[in-house]
Parts: sequence; C-alpha cells; structure tokens
Amino acid sequence: DPLPASTTVRTTCPYCGVGCGVLATTSADGVVSVAGDPEHPANFGRLCSKGAALAETLSLDDRLLHPEIGGARASWDDALGLVAGRFAETIAAHGPDSVAFYVSGQFLTEDYYAANKLMKGFIGSGNIDTNSRLCMASSVAGHKRAFGSDTVPGCYEDLEEADLVVLVGSNLAWCHPVLFQRLSAAKAARPELRIVNIDPRRTATSELADLQLAIAPGGDVALFSALLCHLADVGAADIRFIARHTNGLAETIDAAAISPDELPAATGLALAEIETFFDWFAGTAKVVTVYSQGVNQSVTGTDKVNAIINCHLLTGRIGRPGMGPFSVTGQPNAMGGREVGGLANQLAAHMDIGDAAARERVQRFWQAPTIADRPGLKAVEMFEAVADGRIKAIWIMATNPVVSLPDADAVRAALAACPFVVVSDVVRETDTTALAHVLLPAAAWGEKDGTVTNSERRISRQRGFLPLPGEARPDWWQIAEVARRMGFADAFGWDGAGAIFREHAALSAADNQGSRDFDIGGLAGLDDAGYDDLAPVQWPVPVTSQPGDTAPKRFFADGRFFTPDGKARFVPTPHRPLDLGAGNGFDMVLNTGRIRDQWHTMTRTGKTARLTAHIAEPFAEIHPADAARLGIDAAGLVRIASRHGSAVVRALVTDRQRPGAVFVPMHWTGQTASAARIDAVVAPATDPVSGQPGLKATAVRVAPF
Ligand code: SF4
Repeated sequence: DPLPASTTVRTTCPYCGVGCGVLATTSADGVVSVAGDPEHPANFGRLCSKGAALAETLSLDDRLLHPEIGGARASWDDALGLVAGRFAETIAAHGPDSVAFYVSGQFLTEDYYAANKLMKGFIGSGNIDTNSRLCMASSVAGHKRAFGSDTVPGCYEDLEEADLVVLVGSNLAWCHPVLFQRLSAAKAARPELRIVNIDPRRTATSELADLQLAIAPGGDVALFSALLCHLADVGAADIRFIARHTNGLAETIDAAAISPDELPAATGLALAEIETFFDWFAGTAKVVTVYSQGVNQSVTGTDKVNAIINCHLLTGRIGRPGMGPFSVTGQPNAMGGREVGGLANQLAAHMDIGDAAARERVQRFWQAPTIADRPGLKAVEMFEAVADGRIKAIWIMATNPVVSLPDADAVRAALAACPFVVVSDVVRETDTTALAHVLLPAAAWGEKDGTVTNSERRISRQRGFLPLPGEARPDWWQIAEVARRMGFADAFGWDGAGAIFREHAALSAADNQGSRDFDIGGLAGLDDAGYDDLAPVQWPVPVTSQPGDTAPKRFFADGRFFTPDGKARFVPTPHRPLDLGAGNGFDMVLNTGRIRDQWHTMTRTGKTARLTAHIAEPFAEIHPADAARLGIDAAGLVRIASRHGSAVVRALVTDRQRPGAVFVPMHWTGQTASAARIDAVVAPATDPVSGQPGLKATAVRVAPF
C-alpha cells in the first residue's frame, strides 16, 4: 500500500530575531524534518545551523509533562487553583504590587497579550517584565526619545541596498546568521558595498568587514558623538530635513563636543582608523547602522542608541532605501512583546502607561476593573524586590533567570526565600524550576500556535505540528485559567490563539487616528481560517488597508514622527567614561555573549550532537599579553571573579581579544557539569533610562585556577 502523505506546516524559527520561515514536515512514520521556507521574506529558504537542526531538538526526555505542587504531581485544577488563590490572597493582604510576572521573548505575542492584560488591567500592577529587558530595552528607550515611538524605521532590504553598513556591537555572523548571509551575498554581488565592524573583539563578522574598529568597552558614545560633530563640520548635514523635521540639534552638538586629542583614549582607537570611518560615513549617502547587544546591554545603552540615531537624523538618512539606524533584536519575539506591553513601563499597542488618556482607552477596551497607573519594576529591580520581600509571589514563564540575570546567585537566593514561586516551562530540570513551589508544563515550539514579530516588524505565524505531550498546555491558556479562577472569566474566555490575536489587533486600532506607529487594526477581522492562513506581514496594517495592500517597508520617509509636534528629537549624549569600580585587582572587563550554535541555556540546542560539536565547553577569550601577565596557560583553567560571584572556564588565548578584556559565553548553566554560570559574575548595574543591565562590562579579576 502507498504510504500516507507527509504533511508540511509553515512556521517560524524560535531562536533569533531574524525570524526565519521554516517548513516543518512530518513524514508518514512520524519523523519530522525542517527546511527553510523559500517564500518567507526574512530568509527566502535559508536557515542557519541552529534553525537547520530544529528537528533534532524535539525529544521529550527532559520535558516537564505534568503540573507539580511541591515536587509532587498534581492535577491542573489543583495547580491552577493554588496559583490563583495564592496570588489573590497576596494581593488582598499586601496590594497588587506585591505580586509579579517575569516572562520571556520566547513567548508568542498571544501569550504576552494575555499576561499583560491580567497583570496591568485586572490585578492592577505594572509588575510584568520580560527577559527582553536584557535584550533590547535600550533600543526601545532610544527610539522613544528620538521618534516619540518604539519604531524600527527600516527593513532587511536596507542592508542589501546600502553602500555602507556599520555594525556596532553585533556579531551578526553568529547571532543573526541568516541576516549575515544576506549581507554577505549583497557584498559578493557588489564588492563596493563597504562594511565597518565596531566591536572590541575580532569575530566571525570581522571576516566580512572592510574596516574593523576594536573599540574599547564604553567607547561608543564618544565615537558617535565625535562623528556627529564631524558630519556637521564637513557639511554632511541635511539642513532642510533638520529644519523641517527635527528639534534639539544645537544642544546635542554642544554636548557631543570631544577634542580629537581625547578621542583615542575615549574609544581605544587610533585617530587614523577613526578618520577613515568618519570619511566613509560622511561620503556615503546610503548608510545603515546595525546595532545589537553590544550597544543595548550597557549602562549607557540608551545614550549609545541615541548617539547613533543622532548621526542619521543629522544627515536625513532615515526611512529611505538603504538608509537608517537598525536595531536587531536577540530573541524571536522581542518585538511582539513590545507591541503588547510586555515591558513594565509599557501599556499595550505601543501606548504609554504614563499617559492618562491611553490608560482610560485600554481600560475601557478591556472593560477592566482597574489599570496600572505607573510603570512596574524592571527585571533587575523586580528580583531585588523579591529579595527584600516587597514581592511575595512571582510567576516566571518561559525563562531561566537564575542563569540569565546578572548577579545570578543573588537571584537564586531571592527566589529560594520567596514565599510563592510559580514556574511555567517546557523543561523539568533548570536552575529556576528547582526553586518553584508550583510547576506548570508549557507547550514547546512545534506544539504551540500564535504569532511572533521579527526585527523588521514582520508578523509571522508559529504553527503547531506536533500534539501536546503529556498535560502540557500553552502559556496563554495557563494565564487565562488562572484569571478565570481569580474571578475574571468574562475577559479571558478565548477559545484559541486566534481570538487573542483579533483582540490585540482591535486594541491597536482603538482610537488610533494615525497617532501611534503600531496599528494592525486591518487584521482584527480575521476569522480562524484567516488567522491560520496569515502570511508574513509587516506592520502597520491599519483598518483602512485593502486586501492586497502591502505595508510601507519604512517609517519616517515623509519626515513625520510620533512626537507631539511630529518632529524627531536629537538627544544630547555626553561621553561618560566607563566607571566599573575597578581596583582591588578587578582590573579586567568581562564581556558576555552568544556562540554560533547554542541558544540561551541550551535546553534545545544542547540536545543535538552536531550543534554541541561546534564548541563543546565554555571558554574565556583572553589576549596573549594578559595571559602572559597573569600566568595563564593556553587551554588552562581560569577563575573569573567579580564582587558578585565567580566562574571557572578554560582559557582561550587569542589576539582576537582586546588587551584588558575577557569574553565568556552566556549559555552554560548550573545544570551542566561546569562552574561556568557566568551571569553569577556579572554586576547588576543597569542603564538609568532603559533599566537594561550592562551585561557587556563588569570589572573582574582573572587568575589561573
Ligand atoms: Fe533561526 Fe535566526 Fe538562524 Fe534564522 S538566523 S534560522 S531565525 S536562528
């Protein structure tokens, strides 16, 4: 007999913010294979090593498959009843700000929407934050300061259409590989396309660069402020654009002034290489500046973002083909979380929690009994509040803060002492599930259904193609069931992810007369079949859009911004030398980040032999001069210690690293047989505007182990 036909489902990769389309095929005998979706506009069929190995990550051996209370299997009804009861009791006794949700860029937009609605509209607190705070909060804050909205102005095609691509704090080759493939292909076709790579380390990305600027940690603001002054001096300013569409240039130029004598010390770069970069930037109309965690994960991250945007505003190079500042997000749905208010300082649909009219609009739309009237605690503050007892009940979903937050040992101690910790996860054994009073089994990639938004504002469907294993359930369902048990059944009665998406889309259009950037009201009328079939689409999709219309690929081409007066704002970003509190032997700067073939805490990528074969163990990249000075042998073990904690990893002595700096990957956990949980070493210092932690710079002592 002929075998039954295999089935193929169009879905989206769950890893990085490129948001590649994936074809997942289940054969007649149940074997899953994946391929790049040739029709998806992010990747046109390409996948990177991680995406190509997705089918190898689907085993159930490590899964959390049943609810647990106190480590013992429990029914869903008992577990949900306990969560709802303890949250309600805590709120009744101590007020709404005594509870918190800590969620994740792994959430689908529908999960995010449900969690935000419950916390801000029905519990009445702003205390929902996400691990996306660790990813791109500085870009959100920078966008809002400059544009009045959290808008990524451009699209991926801009990297291909530019004549100069400036990469800042972004190892695109390893962290956003398919976007790097697109850039590589563009350069192969047009070798005159120049690439400048600004990064303290020489990385795989450097191999494509025409100019590598090994900037000193903390030197970015000085570099881009000096560039701003240079552009003004050499007549590269677009006077007409500035006059019509911007405010604040004079004070920004004043604050940017830095003498050429100071620049090498402030940036760690030679004057000649700075001049080359400045000449290229000034002399090239089509410039895209791509930035990622090296910019965002800094105590001056928001200023870094604005220093970059200032240069694009000065030259009017924004919103046009091949031009603009471009933030690439780390996670698959960091953008979707921003759209629905996943950050503690947001409301929903790009509305501000501090705006009384927006609060009234959202409360009315939700028919909510209350609405949070001030921002909640941001990620690092949230766990400090757990530690000092202000937060007495926390629900952690789809993330592992005992590994990923800075000062991770303090986070572990805080959760160990917290009266009530709920963790929803797909994995049974993590550093965080070990501290939970209640465990709730979540649906994983391949099982859950919803949408994500990638770095170029493109909404794509993630579709399930596997049955829910055991008693696992989607995160939105868990949140809705808890809400129901807290007495809010009417507002959380969705019958599927499509119903949540429709509500989210309708809210984005509520009272929106073009006053906000984010508007997908045109998708609010999708029925379930339409939602199932939804093709990748960039926002905005306003209600006025007609079938077949495509959204504008870029914002701001018309010079209209979302500030009250419609003008973009230059933001003064004075250079502040990095002050890490060095001394007492803490004389090296620790930088953390990703490697090519692992994702976050390796719960999925660690399952495949071909991915773990790339780099099998954690390491510390250290310059030969530092290794010699400190008596560190090549491949010897080193202890990296800060005032907060320590880790032991193998030394990788290489001149790709700057002297004085050490790089350690972030992926290894306390669950692995190593002492390389590097975020236990990272200081919990944050950017004062965005609240994003400075994961790229901690004063450490490095010594042979
Ligand atoms: Fe997945 Fe990112 Fe790789 Fe694309 S580039 S396949 S989204 S990890």
